[in-house]
Amino acid sequence: MFNLILFGPPGAGKGTQAVKIAEKFGWKHVSTGDILRSEVAQGTPLGLKVKAVMEAGHLVSDELLIEIMESVFVKNSDVKGFVLDGFPRTLKQARELDVMLSKSGQKVTLVLALKVDEHELVGRLLTRALDQGRKDDTEEVIKNRLVQYHNHTKPLIDYYKEQKLFREVYGVGSIEEIFNTLSSTIHEHQSIQK
Ligand code: AMP
Repeated sequence: MFNLILFGPPGAGKGTQAVKIAEKFGWKHVSTGDILRSEVAQGTPLGLKVKAVMEAGHLVSDELLIEIMESVFVKNSDVKGFVLDGFPRTLKQARELDVMLSKSGQKVTLVLALKVDEHELVGRLLTRALDQGRKDDTEEVIKNRLVQYHNHTKPLIDYYKEQKLFREVYGVGSIEEIFNTLSSTIHEHQSIQK
């Protein structure tokens, strides 16, 4: 089983690439942002709980995220691999992910990070806000999301570097170019594993 974490700041293009990778390799794409947005759209108790936090660009609690991921793993015990997109986002989530995977004798296989500079990110996020009408993409909220990334998510880079799981790919260029680089990095990793 291949457990890939697609890592990077908001606006790096994780969602687009995660869908393509999942399709190519036959793995299950898990976007915690999509899961949460769908709960909000359906007005479920969980959705009502997280709506304001998401709209402000803050992070939803670790406890809720861990619950969500536990249920994802239970429901998908038969897949060949996962592409995790937007999870883990804190050290606590990363540690809990290790615990959850270890229950089925699994580990994180690879963390692939998309590297995009901050100036480019803000531009991309503002364009996406206009195109998709995402409520969490106004300028102030974008700033919040980047601050959350710096304060809570960036420390995961060292966590995964220490485990020699971290690989970085330049995230600027055409979608296909970036996808090809990501795919060949995954292939490389698969052949090392064999
Ligand atoms: P995304 O689509 O991945 O950018 O996620 C959208 C929003 O969902 C984030 O800004 C957070 O409010 C929330 N969210 C998604 N994944 C997580 C996570 N792993 N931990 C905490 N909050 C999350």
